[in-house]
Amino acid sequence: MREGMTYGRALRLLLAGFFLGRCPACGRASMFRSAFELHDRCPECGARHSMEEGAWLGAVAIGYGIAALFAFVLTLIELNAHPIARAGLDPTWTIAAVSVPVTILGYRPAKGLWFTLLYLYGLGGDQDEPRQPTEA
Ligand SMILES: [Zn+2]
Repeated sequence: MREGMTYGRALRLLLAGFFLGRCPACGRASMFRSAFELHDRCPECGARHSMEEGAWLGAVAIGYGIAALFAFVLTLIELNAHPIARAGLDPTWTIAAVSVPVTILGYRPAKGLWFTLLYLYGLGGDQDEPRQPTEA
Protein backbone atom coordinates (compact mmCIF):
# COMPACT_ATOMS: atom_id res chain seq x y z
CA MET A 1 0.00 0.00 0.00
CA ARG A 2 0.95 3.63 -0.31
CA GLU A 3 3.36 4.99 2.25
CA GLY A 4 1.68 6.38 5.35
CA MET A 5 -1.63 4.72 4.48
CA THR A 6 -3.42 3.12 7.42
CA TYR A 7 -5.96 0.33 6.98
CA GLY A 8 -8.69 2.55 8.43
CA ARG A 9 -7.96 5.29 5.93
CA ALA A 10 -7.71 2.77 3.09
CA LEU A 11 -11.11 1.33 4.03
CA ARG A 12 -12.66 4.82 4.12
CA LEU A 13 -11.21 5.56 0.68
CA LEU A 14 -12.53 2.27 -0.73
CA LEU A 15 -16.02 2.96 0.65
CA ALA A 16 -15.94 6.54 -0.70
CA GLY A 17 -14.77 5.19 -4.06
CA PHE A 18 -17.47 2.53 -4.14
CA PHE A 19 -20.48 4.55 -2.94
CA LEU A 20 -19.57 8.09 -4.00
CA GLY A 21 -16.94 7.69 -6.73
CA ARG A 22 -14.67 10.09 -4.81
CA CYS A 23 -11.10 10.77 -5.88
CA PRO A 24 -8.93 8.57 -3.63
CA ALA A 25 -6.12 11.13 -3.59
CA CYS A 26 -8.06 14.13 -2.21
CA GLY A 27 -11.62 12.92 -1.52
CA ARG A 28 -12.96 16.29 -2.65
CA ALA A 29 -14.03 15.63 -6.25
CA SER A 30 -15.73 12.84 -8.16
CA MET A 31 -13.55 10.53 -10.26
CA PHE A 32 -16.34 10.49 -12.84
CA ARG A 33 -16.93 13.06 -15.56
CA SER A 34 -20.08 11.24 -16.73
CA ALA A 35 -22.10 8.23 -15.56
CA PHE A 36 -19.32 5.75 -16.33
CA GLU A 37 -16.37 7.78 -17.68
CA LEU A 38 -13.49 8.85 -15.45
CA HIS A 39 -11.74 12.20 -15.53
CA ASP A 40 -8.22 11.92 -16.95
CA ARG A 41 -7.06 13.90 -13.94
CA CYS A 42 -8.84 14.94 -10.78
CA PRO A 43 -10.19 18.49 -11.26
CA GLU A 44 -9.37 19.26 -7.60
CA CYS A 45 -5.95 17.75 -6.95
CA GLY A 46 -4.69 16.67 -10.37
CA ALA A 47 -4.23 12.99 -9.45
CA ARG A 48 -4.31 10.88 -12.56
CA HIS A 49 -7.30 8.55 -12.98
CA SER A 50 -6.85 7.50 -16.59
CA MET A 51 -4.81 4.36 -16.92
CA GLU A 52 -3.16 2.27 -19.55
CA GLU A 53 -5.39 0.17 -21.80
CA GLY A 54 -7.12 -2.68 -20.02
CA ALA A 55 -7.15 -1.17 -16.53
CA TRP A 56 -10.97 -1.17 -16.67
CA LEU A 57 -11.02 -4.99 -16.82
CA GLY A 58 -10.85 -5.29 -13.03
CA ALA A 59 -13.84 -2.96 -12.76
CA VAL A 60 -15.83 -5.18 -15.13
CA ALA A 61 -14.87 -8.25 -13.08
CA ILE A 62 -16.02 -6.59 -9.84
CA GLY A 63 -19.23 -5.48 -11.61
CA TYR A 64 -20.00 -9.04 -12.66
CA GLY A 65 -19.17 -10.20 -9.14
CA ILE A 66 -21.76 -7.77 -7.73
CA ALA A 67 -24.38 -9.02 -10.23
CA ALA A 68 -23.53 -12.68 -9.54
CA LEU A 69 -23.84 -12.11 -5.79
CA PHE A 70 -27.19 -10.36 -6.34
CA ALA A 71 -28.48 -13.24 -8.51
CA PHE A 72 -27.23 -15.78 -5.96
CA VAL A 73 -28.98 -14.04 -3.04
CA LEU A 74 -32.17 -13.63 -5.11
CA THR A 75 -32.05 -17.35 -5.98
CA LEU A 76 -31.69 -18.29 -2.30
CA ILE A 77 -34.67 -16.09 -1.42
CA GLU A 78 -36.73 -17.63 -4.24
CA LEU A 79 -35.81 -21.19 -3.23
CA ASN A 80 -36.86 -20.54 0.37
CA ALA A 81 -39.88 -18.24 0.08
CA HIS A 82 -40.87 -18.43 -3.64
CA PRO A 83 -41.85 -14.74 -3.98
CA ILE A 84 -41.24 -14.71 -7.75
CA ALA A 85 -43.20 -17.92 -8.47
CA ARG A 86 -46.03 -16.66 -6.26
CA ALA A 87 -46.14 -13.49 -8.34
CA GLY A 88 -46.79 -15.71 -11.36
CA LEU A 89 -43.38 -15.15 -12.97
CA ASP A 90 -40.79 -17.64 -14.17
CA PRO A 91 -38.05 -17.50 -11.48
CA THR A 92 -35.10 -18.30 -13.79
CA TRP A 93 -35.95 -15.69 -16.41
CA THR A 94 -36.94 -13.10 -13.82
CA ILE A 95 -33.65 -13.46 -11.95
CA ALA A 96 -31.72 -13.30 -15.25
CA ALA A 97 -33.69 -10.23 -16.37
CA VAL A 98 -33.25 -8.24 -13.15
CA SER A 99 -29.55 -9.13 -12.99
CA VAL A 100 -28.88 -7.18 -16.21
CA PRO A 101 -29.74 -3.73 -14.79
CA VAL A 102 -27.90 -4.68 -11.57
CA THR A 103 -24.79 -5.35 -13.69
CA ILE A 104 -25.13 -1.91 -15.27
CA LEU A 105 -25.93 -0.13 -11.99
CA GLY A 106 -23.07 -1.96 -10.28
CA TYR A 107 -20.50 -0.91 -12.86
CA ARG A 108 -19.95 2.60 -11.54
CA PRO A 109 -19.39 1.58 -7.89
CA ALA A 110 -17.24 -1.30 -9.14
CA LYS A 111 -15.16 1.14 -11.18
CA GLY A 112 -14.85 3.51 -8.21
CA LEU A 113 -13.72 0.63 -6.01
CA TRP A 114 -11.28 -0.74 -8.58
CA PHE A 115 -9.58 2.57 -9.35
CA THR A 116 -9.32 3.33 -5.63
CA LEU A 117 -7.60 -0.05 -5.20
CA LEU A 118 -5.20 0.78 -8.04
CA TYR A 119 -4.47 4.10 -6.35
CA LEU A 120 -3.91 2.51 -2.93
CA TYR A 121 -1.41 0.07 -4.34
CA GLY A 122 0.27 2.67 -6.50
CA LEU A 123 -0.62 0.87 -9.71
CA GLY A 124 -2.57 3.62 -11.42
CA GLY A 125 -1.35 5.94 -14.13
CA ASP A 126 1.81 7.89 -13.41
CA GLN A 127 3.19 7.98 -9.92
CA ASP A 128 3.45 11.71 -9.42
CA GLU A 129 2.04 13.03 -6.19
CA PRO A 130 -1.18 14.99 -6.55
CA ARG A 131 -0.47 18.70 -6.82
CA GLN A 132 -2.04 21.05 -4.34
CA PRO A 133 -4.99 23.02 -5.71
CA THR A 134 -3.82 26.39 -6.98
CA GLU A 135 -5.48 29.53 -5.74
CA ALA A 136 -7.78 30.95 -8.40
ZN1 LIG B 1 -8.45 14.52 -6.26
